[in-house]
Amino acid sequence: MNIAVIGTGYVGLVSGVCFAELGNRVICVDKDTRKIDILNSGGIPIYEPGLKELSEANRAADRLAFTSDLPGAVRQSDIIILAVGTPPLPNGEANLSYIEEAALEIAEAMNGYKIIVVKSTVPVGTNERLSDLIRRRTKHLFDSVSLPEFLREGSAIKDSLQPDRIIIGVDSPLAADTMVELHKPLTEQIVVTDIRSAEMIKYASNAFLATKISFINEIANICEKVGADVTQVAEGMGYDKRIGPAYLKAGIGYGGSCFPKDTRALIQIAGHVDYDFKLLRSVVEVNQGQRFNVIRKLETIFGGELQGRTVAVWGLAFKPNTDDVRDSPALEIIQFLVENGVKVKAHDPVAMGNFQALFGKEGVEWCNDALETAQGADALCLLTEWEEFADVDLKQLQSVLNRPILIDGRNVFEEEDLLGTNFVYYSVGRPSLN
Ligand code: NAD
Repeated sequence: MNIAVIGTGYVGLVSGVCFAELGNRVICVDKDTRKIDILNSGGIPIYEPGLKELSEANRAADRLAFTSDLPGAVRQSDIIILAVGTPPLPNGEANLSYIEEAALEIAEAMNGYKIIVVKSTVPVGTNERLSDLIRRRTKHLFDSVSLPEFLREGSAIKDSLQPDRIIIGVDSPLAADTMVELHKPLTEQIVVTDIRSAEMIKYASNAFLATKISFINEIANICEKVGADVTQVAEGMGYDKRIGPAYLKAGIGYGGSCFPKDTRALIQIAGHVDYDFKLLRSVVEVNQGQRFNVIRKLETIFGGELQGRTVAVWGLAFKPNTDDVRDSPALEIIQFLVENGVKVKAHDPVAMGNFQALFGKEGVEWCNDALETAQGADALCLLTEWEEFADVDLKQLQSVLNRPILIDGRNVFEEEDLLGTNFVYYSVGRPSLN
């Protein structure tokens, strides 16, 4: 099939490369010419394991191209997939201006029947609105499809090539058949729904996963007070098939470009139809508080006096194996520390550049590796569970810290790892050590 993918971000680029890998001819489009230049010179503008190799192979096989010429890409394609950003507005609603702009550009470029697919996460009813916009701008026939994306950054290629399920929201049998055909090589679990239900499946799925995370974080907070161990509790819960083990890892809460924005957007979607989504509002509130547990632990350790301390921070990305720092807990935690007179030293294996672009370069000492970051610090906070941090020799780490205080926000270390050290060790929902 001939496919144009509009938007070469985390979703569009991975989807485009994976559709090419299935044997389709794919043109990936972005209005950011810097990204297109990087892609055309064989680079990848984001960090995603395995993506560069897969992209190179498909370019070499002549199935994958990159351009900023949207009209040209639309004219050459039968299926147009929209994967542009839908970032949050200040009130939590999704900003639909990018997707509306792209839809209008598609409408004006159309030269015949197209299937127009929305992969971006959009509020219920958006596909219908976009169809109306397009219909007013073109005489050509088209069908709309809602194709929500469930990939996770860091394992995006595996998630795309071996998805748990594909949801196709569609009201035309022709478009439904074509989309099923396109996705058949990936999974047998293809669910065809109406368009509004597909849009809702995406929000409901993310809201449910966020709920699991906030739930286990609240259990963790209680565990700390009653002397239980949340990792044992989660394991014991997870064997129950009705619960399952996924997303039951206590920590400093979820972040990233999806859960925070999609939970807030769903609260707004519900609000627009006079429904107060109380449960989800609590999920968001719990998540916000969870980030600050790291600060509370630091305050306890330092007797409430943070001013003048040196704190090392390991990890800036919202999770390991990505350079994405959008809504990363590290942003608010470091902001708070800096504002309260703490000297912050920080390191992340790949997300430092993106973090500095959002946070600024001032006020933090940026370090090249884990041990350099810890050097001379009064405490160390682990915020992202990169392997590089888990692999550090803890005796060596202790020797470079000014005080052996470790706040493990992701429960990376076990009690036996710390044997033979004098660490004062705090984690999440587990008894503290020393
Ligand atoms: P992103 O910000 O990384 O990328 C969006 C890209 O679209 C940018 O490169 C931008 O330049 C481009 N763009 C915007 N307007 C354009 C236009 N008119 N023409 C051409 N290009 C244009 O976004 P992302 O993280 O890939 O997310 C895209 C969508 O997918 C969002 O709705 C998001 O909620 C959803 N989603 C994201 C993830 C994820 O893990 N990142 C997972 C599932 C769903």
